[in-house]
Amino acid sequence: MSECLFCKIAAGEIPSNKVLENENFIAFHDINPVAKVHVLVIPKKHVANIAHLTDKNESYVDGMLSFIRDVAKELGISADGYRVILNTGAKAGQTVFHLHAHVLGGQEFGWPDA
Ligand code: 5GP
Ligand code: ZN
Repeated sequence: MSECLFCKIAAGEIPSNKVLENENFIAFHDINPVAKVHVLVIPKKHVANIAHLTDKNESYVDGMLSFIRDVAKELGISADGYRVILNTGAKAGQTVFHLHAHVLGGQEFGWPDA
């Protein structure tokens, strides 16, 4: 059995507040939201992060952007705009080493300052 937290969520072994699911991806609410709307999108198949994508596993993330688009529509944040973040590596703030996109919305964001 995988020891990866998000593999366990993908397998339904750990409960999550699910937003949307298809054959390859699951979207669920972050347990510790940092925005009015904060959802995580993960591929069901394990890859640690973007840096670990290879010729052999890159198909795991095929369709991830269009799934995120559908998630934003489902959440009702699509028209007003939203932010998508993929923390890649510990120094960039990644704490769970199963690739995930943070989808943040429901409010305004600054750029480049948060
Ligand atoms: P990272 O820091 O790796 O980019 O993001 C990991 C995210 O996973 C954090 O925002 C954290 O709040 C979230 N998280 C950690 N454990 C759980 C959990 O058990 N359930 C849910 N829904 N989110 C989690
Ligand atoms: Zn995993």
